[in-house]
Amino acid sequence: MNWPLSYDEPVFRPPSEARSLILQLTVGCSWNKCTYCAMYRGKNYRVRSVDEVVAEIQAAAANAAGVQRVFLADGDALAAPMEALEPVLVEIRERLPSVTRVGIYADSRSIIEKGVEELSRLAGLGLGIVYFGPETGDRETLKAIRKGTTVARQIEACRVVRKTSLKLSAMVLLGLAGTDGAERHARATGRFLVEAAPNYAAALTVTPVPGTELFAAVEDGSFDLPDRWGMLQELAWMLEEMDGYRGLFHANHASNYLPLKLRMPRDREQALETIRAVIEEKDERRLQPEWARGL
Ligand code: SF4
Repeated sequence: MNWPLSYDEPVFRPPSEARSLILQLTVGCSWNKCTYCAMYRGKNYRVRSVDEVVAEIQAAAANAAGVQRVFLADGDALAAPMEALEPVLVEIRERLPSVTRVGIYADSRSIIEKGVEELSRLAGLGLGIVYFGPETGDRETLKAIRKGTTVARQIEACRVVRKTSLKLSAMVLLGLAGTDGAERHARATGRFLVEAAPNYAAALTVTPVPGTELFAAVEDGSFDLPDRWGMLQELAWMLEEMDGYRGLFHANHASNYLPLKLRMPRDREQALETIRAVIEEKDERRLQPEWARGL
């Protein structure tokens, strides 16, 4: 949503929050060390003052009545203390009664630290969905990308959210283990998603961004990024392991080569057939052209 608030740019939000009012509760990412991520590299993490955010909500109430969704940024806004999260959610509920859902980015640390009880309190105040980026279910890949957590902790984080009334959206990244680790990463990630059981799962395609270690590794030849067919093969391996997953599985982000939107388990077999056929025929017409792909 175009909104004349003064953002500390750049601001990111999940694709499904494209029409949401974005409020920056935090600036930057409290971790900021993942090897593939440049989103918040130039920002020092801080929690903004509640007064500032409340003033923005009041301005929104005066200028954007009718707004239906709010997204709390930046990187892992759930890392903000309850003393900040609770009054902000209360203010949204009172000043913007048309809002039906508030979303937020979170990582495994902030989810586990808050725990079921605090998350349930936030849900009671209007928080509706947590966007979490485990990126991979593969131990080796997780270590290599310096996510600062373990697969077990990421599963635990998902379980914590699932014990509340909050919806959970989990994002994973195709291509993250290079060509060498592609199958291991894809299959482990498929199994991870079954175990973590998010309501929504999204597979995006990693895009090396200048300024990141991943980009430097691609440039110096120490990391071999799978090509478009390799990315599709990863998607197929992932889906092969996802027998038993119930939820929505999206691989339709602008970064993806073959947009897919699947209701699982219903659409899994058909999607696998389609992907295998596209790989077999190397049918370029079925893929997004490079120019149409984005981050
Ligand atoms: S991927 Fe997420 S946790 Fe990692 S540095 Fe970027 S915003 Fe922070």
